[in-house]
Amino acid sequence: MEDLQPITLSGLDPVRPLTIAGPCSAETEEQVIETARQLAAEGITIYRAGLWKPRTKPGGFEGVGAQGLAWLRRVKAETGMYVATEVATREHVTAALAGGVDLLWIGARTAANPFAMQEIADALRGHDVPVLVKNPVSPDLELWIGAVQRIYNAGIRRLGVIHRGFTSIDKSLYRNHPMWAIPIELHRRIPNLPIFCDPSHIGGKRELIAPLAQQAMDMGFDGLIIESHCSPDDAWSDKAQQITPQALAYICRNLVIRQTTAHTESLSELRDQIDKLDDQLLELLTHRMRVSRDIGEYKKEHDMPVLQASRYEELLARRAAQAVQLGMDREFMRTVLQAIHEESIRQQMEVLKE
Ligand code: PEP
Ligand code: MN
Repeated sequence: MEDLQPITLSGLDPVRPLTIAGPCSAETEEQVIETARQLAAEGITIYRAGLWKPRTKPGGFEGVGAQGLAWLRRVKAETGMYVATEVATREHVTAALAGGVDLLWIGARTAANPFAMQEIADALRGHDVPVLVKNPVSPDLELWIGAVQRIYNAGIRRLGVIHRGFTSIDKSLYRNHPMWAIPIELHRRIPNLPIFCDPSHIGGKRELIAPLAQQAMDMGFDGLIIESHCSPDDAWSDKAQQITPQALAYICRNLVIRQTTAHTESLSELRDQIDKLDDQLLELLTHRMRVSRDIGEYKKEHDMPVLQASRYEELLARRAAQAVQLGMDREFMRTVLQAIHEESIRQQMEVLKE
């Protein structure tokens, strides 16, 4: 995907973050116009509003549909903002493009379905419109990349993604677990693919939007898409995560934007240090595996089982607690030790087979 282009719209300066803002859903003409006026006054240049709303369960507000296109055209005419909406079917794409929508995004539930993605891709063929693909609801990077490839193969080059977090069975602070490692891996795989963050859907609550947006900026994300409503408490969908245009502007003003390209001497020195430490880590791990294999020999001679669960549990708990004291995350340490342990077991099994 080397010929991907940045997400731009004519007349817009290339800025980081490029910020898209607007209500979860277009509800009424008044709400759409009022929210847009307030956002435009705060300097927002791309307005979002969902016309077709994919709801997890039937019975919720499913969007105003194509009649909202005229409201978005009014937004363009009266504020000069560009407008964006979610598409999930061939009919949505055709209607949105005919209705003057400037940027399309594909929702998390749709991105999880290759048939739907292909249908959308086919409808996009021959059009030059920026498209953002949200991550699928499940933490499946290949499925996300596949969804992006379908749109790319249809000829779309102003193509990007939106990280909106992942459904998780664990109860958590977040509505959708951020699992930052997944968008970071996506960036490693396709470095020129612009990444937006949707702190509204990750957080699910107003107070989480600012810290999540900052985190995304610190990780070098290109843009943000944030839900904003002229009267958040009255929103017909995702009420708890809507913020006023003024709150949104306050958050944006307070974001600390660091350079993504660092080229200082001291940084390369620090990177050298990291490389050396990684060498040492590898040597230590090799040494540890050697000792593991020796233990394997001993267990083989004495007819002992490879896995001794009680020792492993004790080791895991002790080291995780120690890691916390050293300023590291408990879960991080458990994950590292589990991976090391798995490899040790594999090596001991090899010894047993010899
Ligand atoms: C939305 O953007 O309002 C939306 C429905 O988001 P998601 O697809 O991320 O759930
Ligand atoms: Mn929403």
